[in-house]
Amino acid sequence: MPVERTEHHELFKYYEVYETIGSGGFAKVKLGRHILTGENVAIKIMNKKDLGDDLPRVKVEIEAMKNLSHQHVCRLYQVIETSTQIFMVLEYCPGGELFDYIIAKDRLSEEETRVFFRQIVSAMAYVHSQGYAHRDLKPENLLIDEDHNLKLIDFGLCAKPKGGLGFELKTCCGSPAYAAPELIQGKAYIGSEADVWSMGVLLFALLCGYLPFDDDNCMVLYRKITRGTYENPRWLSPGSVLLLNQMMQMDPKRRLSVRHLLDHPWVMKDYNSPVAWHSRQPLGHIDEDCITEMAVNMKRSRASTTALVKEWRYDQTTATYLLLLSKKQRGKPVRLRLEPAVCEDSCSPLHQGLQTREALHFSEDEDAVIVGSLEFCSDYIDDCPWVSVANNKDMRLASPSVEKKCVYSPTPERGRTTAQHRQERRDRDHGQTSENKENIAVQETDVEIFALPPPRTPASSKKNARANKKVLTTPNQNANVNGTKTNAVTPKGGGSASKEPDKKRAAEFKELANVEILAFSPERRSRSLDMAVTGDSGKKKRGGKVFGSLERGLDKMITMLTPGKKRALRDGPRKIKVQYNVTLTSQTNPDQVLNQILSILPEKNVDFTQKGYTLKCRTWGDFGKVTMAFELEVCLLQRPEVVGIRRQRLKGDAWVYKHLVEDILSTSSI
Ligand code: ADP
Repeated sequence: MPVERTEHHELFKYYEVYETIGSGGFAKVKLGRHILTGENVAIKIMNKKDLGDDLPRVKVEIEAMKNLSHQHVCRLYQVIETSTQIFMVLEYCPGGELFDYIIAKDRLSEEETRVFFRQIVSAMAYVHSQGYAHRDLKPENLLIDEDHNLKLIDFGLCAKPKGGLGFELKTCCGSPAYAAPELIQGKAYIGSEADVWSMGVLLFALLCGYLPFDDDNCMVLYRKITRGTYENPRWLSPGSVLLLNQMMQMDPKRRLSVRHLLDHPWVMKDYNSPVAWHSRQPLGHIDEDCITEMAVNMKRSRASTTALVKEWRYDQTTATYLLLLSKKQRGKPVRLRLEPAVCEDSCSPLHQGLQTREALHFSEDEDAVIVGSLEFCSDYIDDCPWVSVANNKDMRLASPSVEKKCVYSPTPERGRTTAQHRQERRDRDHGQTSENKENIAVQETDVEIFALPPPRTPASSKKNARANKKVLTTPNQNANVNGTKTNAVTPKGGGSASKEPDKKRAAEFKELANVEILAFSPERRSRSLDMAVTGDSGKKKRGGKVFGSLERGLDKMITMLTPGKKRALRDGPRKIKVQYNVTLTSQTNPDQVLNQILSILPEKNVDFTQKGYTLKCRTWGDFGKVTMAFELEVCLLQRPEVVGIRRQRLKGDAWVYKHLVEDILSTSSI
């Protein structure tokens, strides 16, 4: 799908765009940097065509986020809409999802849970006070910021009843495992009451490391939820058991309210103060220092700058103001970059300062350091497996009455076998990988504030180890020039195979999915998809083959860098400190650990590409969609001096990911 350069002009005028840091049912999220302030941001990118019927959901999310400003709600800075895409520029949360934090620690102590839970209560009290019900609360939708504080995201399913939160809602949505029984039963419900149930499930997940109601089969899961019985593990304190019970009350009227949670004894323990839930950054507040800095930059009067900011258009002015404010609040200088660039159109001086594209670097690599790559985005959009109708509908929750209709056969249709379809993908992918270039990233040096090295993320920290020249040989694997390997059989062929089969299947599945009456959030619970391909036995029918697909963007690198910015290529695994997303092994030989993992991935039906000591892993659904994407990186730890494996989930159901990675690591006997 060719995308005109002008389509992305706005985005690249104001932001540098880096690697993918996450993807959901609708969007890919990339790390970015706001050029004028030098602040990191997250850029949520959605393709309108792929959104289809779900476009209103994005509009809902944008409207809600414009109306919410709270220390524990992810801040929206800017919205850029083109004829084909929507970009949401958001506060960047480098700590990843709360979900990953929980599973990395198995479960959290009551004390640590309390710290997080108070923040969740604070966010929810605020959200409810603004008249919104979130309706998709779960640890995947709580991100950790650089100060280890939680930020609530994903307001696509939120509701703001016209008559206030006390009015009943009817749309059943959210993630099945977190859904209140009244939703499951298709009853009208009060949004805030349903949110409290989800908060109870979330609290249980924090304290226990697993879900109170869980099953591979959705129908069994619904039954468990509507019965409302779950087991309290022995390590829960009586206070925790009581609180969980008060939140996961079948009768919504007997459930605790968020107001009650604010000063609940369990919540107050060790704090002796209720949760502070009022916004520390109320909407509409104007900070004089930020205005002054902007006025100087824009060569305007303070009064007219203030008037401009007060329009709250969520354009470049809003973004600049909010990011300056964020800098100020974190004790950083309230300074904007002064850029004597020439403006090609008649934009304001503030905007003129953003005309820096000439100085930027380009790459087509999916996750290489890229800055302002127009081509790159159109490529990735073309190949991006995110969303599409099938993916969205796959995950929807079927009502008991239509259960049978949702169980579809994965039998290949229209004369095309699944194997053929996958072979096409392999062919195409190979065509793309054969063009690989040397992997070069920007040099990391301490430079002046506005000539920064690319931001580092849990995901990007792997860049140090990029382009590893060491070739590790394992059976059936071919290494290419830059040390990139694939488990794919690599037939010769072009890279332009049509995506039509995917689309047809998606359309067919959409038809089937239309019979569903409950709309649960996509991607969030791939179990509903699992159910669709699950036999009565409940056993998953997986394709026996391992598919060596290489997404174009992941493996193809065309990096145009200024000579001075080339990073020295480094051999060997990265040396890192122990982090929560690193699994320690008892071994000291990284190559051995890598080879053990490499040998186990095909067994687990995990498709992967290798770059040095980083394995980009994927699993595929029966409709040629990526159901899960994650990275495993073998690295060296300093204390203790052993080999570690850094994990990073990029896409897919969080609990399925947990089980899969645990399975891989335990089977690898490392
Ligand atoms: P969708 O609406 O398509 O489900 P999400 O908003 O849930 O997409 O984002 C998908 C993933 O991207 C998240 O689960 C998270 O890992 C990552 N992500 C989203 N927003 C941010 C952010 N502000 N900072 C860092 N990562 C983010």
